[in-house]
Amino acid sequence: MKVVYSDKHALHDPAFFLVRGERKESAEKPARADILLKAARAGGHEIVTPAYTGLVPVLAVHTPEYVDFLQVAQREWQKLDGAGPEVIPNVHPVRYRGSYPRAIAGRAGWHQVDGACPIGAGTWEASLAAAQVAVTAAQIVMDETRAGAAAPMAYALCRPPGHHAYADMAGGFCFLNNTAIAAQHLRTAHQRVAILDIDVHHGNGTQGIFYARNDVLTVSIHADPADYYPFFWGHAHERGEGAGEGSNLNLPLPLGSGDAIWLATGERALERIRTFAPTALVVALGLDASEHDPLQGLRITTDGFGRMASLIASLKLPTVLVQEGGYLGPELGDNLGQVLRQMSA
Ligand SMILES: [Zn+2]
Repeated sequence: MKVVYSDKHALHDPAFFLVRGERKESAEKPARADILLKAARAGGHEIVTPAYTGLVPVLAVHTPEYVDFLQVAQREWQKLDGAGPEVIPNVHPVRYRGSYPRAIAGRAGWHQVDGACPIGAGTWEASLAAAQVAVTAAQIVMDETRAGAAAPMAYALCRPPGHHAYADMAGGFCFLNNTAIAAQHLRTAHQRVAILDIDVHHGNGTQGIFYARNDVLTVSIHADPADYYPFFWGHAHERGEGAGEGSNLNLPLPLGSGDAIWLATGERALERIRTFAPTALVVALGLDASEHDPLQGLRITTDGFGRMASLIASLKLPTVLVQEGGYLGPELGDNLGQVLRQMSA
């Protein structure tokens, strides 16, 4: 399988985030991508550099206002008296939106939903590179489909991750929604695209981007947001709206669930995807459902990841795997290796 990777991810190296009122080291470290790349290499997969794809595929999913903010935020922030090195707002419009602000501190609050998406000097460049990784992987799958391959696959080794980013809002380590960008790019050649998100966290940004549409099905299996990030989204009753009514399926699981229920839920997800009858699939491949992940939402084994990959491969669809979460733990590389092996089997 082709693995698309850019070393520009390392330009984004968040110093800290706030957890339960404590300043903690960010879990979203460059070392994650190093481990994932090493695992992909060890599996004998071909490593490909992303093409320069420009801003068009990004702006197909994100608002111009937000993309402008991401590009200028850190420089503008530095002009504030006593500013720290990273943009982390302490004011948010939350439920009563009000008006779009002019001041950078206000714009930051508007576009950054939580304290886990600090914008540093290299964040924009790294995020844009991750989006290009996703677009390149989608393009590989489209090109191979056109050339007659039955169910081609490519893996986008994206960092920072993307699935918590909305059209105009960063959150939960995410800035540009690589999964949504890949799906939207696939839409240039496919009428119906499905997204299956198996990250331990609900793919709230992806859901939000496609919520009112019926051409992209969004399905997410995750730890129940009643007790887990992102709290406000990911509940079973969220089914889409307007033309998108019924095109979103959330499958929350109790915290600490293991392989058996996760895989049974995977079968339910596949059933829905088959009914939707897409001609291409994007997998939001979070590996943080691992039993060894520091975020401790679910308890999935390496074997469980492999079995989920086999289930997904049984759809026999052109498939783009987009790396989402998955944090430093003893089995991060093994879990990716197992997924890539079973997908290509
Ligand atoms: Zn996650």
